[in-house]
Amino acid sequence: MKKITNHKRVLVTGGAGFLGSHLCDRLVADGCDVLCADNFFSGTKDNIAHLIGNPRFELLRHDVTFPLYVEVDEIYNLACPASPIHYQYDPVQTTKTSVHGAINMLGLAKRTKAKILHASTSEIYGDPTVHPQTEDYWGHVNPIGLRSCYDEGKRCAETLFFDYRRQHKLRIKVARIFNTYGPRMHPNDGRVVSNFIEQALKGAPITVYGDGKQTRSFCYVDDLIDAFVRLMATSDDFTGPVNLGNPQEFTILELARKVIANTGSRSEIVFKPLPSDDPMQRQPDISLAKQMLQWEPKVALNEGLRRTISYFGAGRRPAVNDLVLSGS
Ligand code: NAD
Ligand code: UDP
Repeated sequence: MKKITNHKRVLVTGGAGFLGSHLCDRLVADGCDVLCADNFFSGTKDNIAHLIGNPRFELLRHDVTFPLYVEVDEIYNLACPASPIHYQYDPVQTTKTSVHGAINMLGLAKRTKAKILHASTSEIYGDPTVHPQTEDYWGHVNPIGLRSCYDEGKRCAETLFFDYRRQHKLRIKVARIFNTYGPRMHPNDGRVVSNFIEQALKGAPITVYGDGKQTRSFCYVDDLIDAFVRLMATSDDFTGPVNLGNPQEFTILELARKVIANTGSRSEIVFKPLPSDDPMQRQPDISLAKQMLQWEPKVALNEGLRRTISYFGAGRRPAVNDLVLSGS
């Protein structure tokens, strides 16, 4: 269809989720016409309520496992539950979302000649035997475990992106995102930052899984969104995959202590069993992102935690999707 607007038309799948809603904010602020498509499985309308009524923003209830016929210039494909609790709730649907969702969005990109960016993940590397992880590492992933629906779904989606590139010359960008946190994380999604903050604010025990010596590297959401937009703007020759994350690595026990210190909580730390296939260490090598995007994270963990704590503390939390999660 002939384009009659000067504004870039951008589709964000999973736009009502944690990262998607921040991306919609950024794109609307940049003057784009934003179409947010979401089935509200793990995201909520509350995350994008402030954008409703803005002439640059449109919300569509849509499940990406079904085809979508719209006219767009760019696609950010974020639709997929991201926390272990959410993606393990209906693992078959999780794989379908990654694989069928990728096929549908790539088909849309093919028809409209849109540029398409995929939100892949550090889970591609599984429980890594290379540290820090570089993009040329192929990973160490259990194909039949509880996390496999997410990890293997995302790996297959990457395959599809590169095959559509080779076969149909699509303009693709693949971002491998490492643990990202910030306001609008779902308070009940079980991810470590939101869990610890919720527990600390309630004075409840902080649940450290295993001995807490496993590591993660935490990126503040604003830094990540900046990297997304920079990645989409790179030349068509640059496809990624590119690691996006904050290379500052912390043990989970260190994170627990930082959350306690930043909330002033009197919560005690308790140790619980480590979930199966829980990666022992994770730290991105971001040399490629630095070189290609002229980007590196700016927000240190203490500062990011303070901002996230103030969001959770203010009670500005999304309405909990427990109806979906309890299957009722
Ligand atoms: P999120 O759960 O908050 O957002 C995902 C969004 O996708 C939700 O709004 C959900 O309702 C929607 N969704 C799920 N299945 C869908 C479907 N079939 N059709 C349409 N919408 C669907 O998670 P997030 O943290 O914002 O993650 C966004 C993307 O980034 C995901 O693809 C995730 O795998 C990836 N990612 C996130 C992180 C992180 O640390 N936040 C790390 C690595 C990768
Ligand atoms: N974790 C924890 N306590 C919690 C939630 C998570 O110790 O209440 C640990 C979890 O076992 C993992 C790390 O924190 O080692 C990060 O977990 P998350 O689910 O946030 O992300 P992922 O494992 O997908 O990186």
